[in-house]
Amino acid sequence: MRKQLDKTYDPKQFEEKTYQAWLQGGYFHAKPNPDKRPYTIVMPPPNITGQLHLGHAMDCTLQDCLIRFRRMQGYEALWLPGADHASIATEAKIVQKLKEEGVDKQDLGREGFLKRAWEWKEQYGGRIVEQQKKMGSSCDWDRARFTLDEGCSKAVNEVFCKLYDEGLIYRGERIINWCPTCKTSISDAEVEYEDHAGHFWHLRYPFTDGSGYIELATTRPETMLGDTAVAVHPDDERYKAMVGKTLTLPLVGREIPLIADEYVDMEFGTGVVKITPAHDPNDFEVGLRHELPVINVLNEDATLNEQGGKYAGMDRYEARRAIVRDLEEGGFLVRTEDHQHNVGACYRCRSVVEPRVSKQWFVRMEPLAGPAMEVVKNGSLQFVPERFAKIYYHWMENIRDWCISRQLWWGHRIPAWYCDDCGEITVAKFAPERCAHCGGSHIRQDEDTLDTWFSSALWPFSTLGWPDKTPELSYFYPTDTLVTGYDIIFFWVARMIFSGVHNMGEIPFKNVFIHGLIRDAQGRKMSKSLGNGVDPMEVIEQYGADALRLTLCTGNSPGNDMRFSDEKVRASRNFANKLWNASRFILMNLSDEVTSLDLPRELTLEDKWFLSLYNRLVREVTDNLEHFELGVAVQKLYDFIWDILCDWYIELTKARIAAGGESAKRAQQVLVHVMGGALRLLHPFMPFITEEIWQALPSEGISESVMVAPWPEYRPELCFEREEEEFSKIMEVIKAVRNRRSEMNVPPSRKAKLYIATGLPETMEKGAAFFERLAGASEVEIGQSFSIEGAVQVVTGDARIFIPLGELIDLDKERERLQKEREQAEQDVSFFGKKLENPSFVDRAPEKVVNAEREKLQKAKDRLQKIVESLEALK
Ligand SMILES: [Zn+2]
Ligand SMILES: [Zn+2]
Repeated sequence: MRKQLDKTYDPKQFEEKTYQAWLQGGYFHAKPNPDKRPYTIVMPPPNITGQLHLGHAMDCTLQDCLIRFRRMQGYEALWLPGADHASIATEAKIVQKLKEEGVDKQDLGREGFLKRAWEWKEQYGGRIVEQQKKMGSSCDWDRARFTLDEGCSKAVNEVFCKLYDEGLIYRGERIINWCPTCKTSISDAEVEYEDHAGHFWHLRYPFTDGSGYIELATTRPETMLGDTAVAVHPDDERYKAMVGKTLTLPLVGREIPLIADEYVDMEFGTGVVKITPAHDPNDFEVGLRHELPVINVLNEDATLNEQGGKYAGMDRYEARRAIVRDLEEGGFLVRTEDHQHNVGACYRCRSVVEPRVSKQWFVRMEPLAGPAMEVVKNGSLQFVPERFAKIYYHWMENIRDWCISRQLWWGHRIPAWYCDDCGEITVAKFAPERCAHCGGSHIRQDEDTLDTWFSSALWPFSTLGWPDKTPELSYFYPTDTLVTGYDIIFFWVARMIFSGVHNMGEIPFKNVFIHGLIRDAQGRKMSKSLGNGVDPMEVIEQYGADALRLTLCTGNSPGNDMRFSDEKVRASRNFANKLWNASRFILMNLSDEVTSLDLPRELTLEDKWFLSLYNRLVREVTDNLEHFELGVAVQKLYDFIWDILCDWYIELTKARIAAGGESAKRAQQVLVHVMGGALRLLHPFMPFITEEIWQALPSEGISESVMVAPWPEYRPELCFEREEEEFSKIMEVIKAVRNRRSEMNVPPSRKAKLYIATGLPETMEKGAAFFERLAGASEVEIGQSFSIEGAVQVVTGDARIFIPLGELIDLDKERERLQKEREQAEQDVSFFGKKLENPSFVDRAPEKVVNAEREKLQKAKDRLQKIVESLEALK
């Protein structure tokens, strides 16, 4: 028994139910299947702290479109979902929550804190999954993973030990980016640069021997307390003689050397720079070359430490003011200059990041970056659109070692143990009982955890069971497409690529499909402060998931941002309505004899025209989807369903169907055939409504659910180019006559005879019935030429149509109306004409404004011309 469609389209009535039916059908589950080719997408795991925002909603929609498309194409399609523990983000949230309860993280201790964190995960981790389900995501939930689950943690330890053994992970004193608010190191990719108004303070440092001063400038004067040298370029003639002398560091009194190093830019400022190895990455390198002491003057919270002397305990900015004041009093401040400069901020909390020397774990990047670039260069891994490859190369070429240790608790604890007896480090996959070097039992595990991206970098293979050799891993890896925003190419995409290439010996995915950000209707970024964010769940509540999905696909082009507005969602909902009503119309009039989606044997001209267009649609939409052009594909579907199917073909066949008989049955067969195909093509974008209608179509012989129905294929025998062209000539006449009638305000009920002068009498003859029904013709006469007094003429490419006016309108009234319109048009032409003759307007107004006026003038002239022609015809 086929389903009956409800009278009105109400997604609430079926979206939830449909999703449950899909789950019960097991359609989302994929398993290694030697008879099919795999198609795999691993979902970028959202943070467990997160709620679904519009960006996720787009991520979900695009991935689901691709996976549904491939599943219907006959691939064993796996969309593997999961969540990220998001160490820094989650820990910050829990710390905040504890703070509200008056509890400090340290009071709870590591164990207590982690217990709270897992509770948090239990409570909130499922929220986003429920929201993804509401979107219609056809993920294989049986395979859902979590970056901190047992399997992923095993993969993390495996990779850490492997890289350590290969010398690609090391522990060392390095300059890292320190966030004084999050109190942890963060990686280069986690620093966002912002333009700040600041100063250049020009200082002078005296030579210890009393032979004068040397001048230099700094943007961070408080770091001078940690200066251990001053440097000039070895070729700089101005200073050659002075290199080797010592300077007395102002306020501190420490003697520091004047050194020569090629890092210094002779052209910039005085060509002299202060060297603070503990607080600047370049200075740190200079310090290594010259074996300079490293003096850290900052605490973890960016207050000054005991090295800060009288400034100890002050906040960095407070100390800056005090130091500048003291330098000025001591005569060391030459001048202060305003200066706009780039300041690094923590991507989590926006605090200004301090470069700081500390002991951390690093991944040696150079040996990993080369092969990871090669796979993109040789085309085995492609960015869509291609231009993102350049950004990727640029980053990889300039990459520094990746600081992977974090001073956090929520995450994968670093599998390294320190021996109190011999001081050596034991790195092991499983907790050792004894030191690997001396056999001593006094060992302590490193307190730090790994950067959250360390585990997500392994996501494409850890989720498939690696390091175990599972059937899933050998079948689904390398995965096919990664769908993500351009904002995390560095954080995540690049790291997955080198991790895959290095650990698996194979690329993690073949394509990276990059999408843009969603902006509001005015093109602004959505943000809390602007209050212009949109909650996808509210949109679904109001309009349904299909309308939201269609909106997110419409106009979507790889790599480009898109705008979102309520208006667009309403347009999507209207489209769903239109589809619903058209389907209902087809089904209500469907004869019981039509029991399948098969085509009839005999086809009319309009059937062939319609099928030919549909056939082309199949080819193009398939091609677009294969090339990630989802926005193009969905636009074609929208236009076909709205214009060709609903507005044309249904109208064309109404009379046939009403008349009944064999011809009616054939029209119905064509209608359900194309409807069945169009629903399948639309299914990846609008899964719910297409399923609901599919259930009501005579589609039993094909598949119980549209989501596992075969994807339509292009059929050469349905390509009717000649008929397509012929029928479009008939349509042209219908459109032209309709337009003219509407311009002249002729009510649809008022019929008139059409005289069609044409060189294609046979074609026009075939259109006669349609002209009567769709172009207000009471009668049609076709000939070589006509000469008819008092008739409106309409011209198309192949015909000149005469419509006797007396039959259409009251001539006197019409003349009067046109006279008035003519006067108005003449006034407009004269007004814009004068304006454009006025040199003070044309010369002074911006070009855009002048051009707009020119356009208005042209429009008024065109209108006037038409009115004059119409008046002529009335004579
Ligand atoms: Zn921070
Ligand atoms: Zn030991």
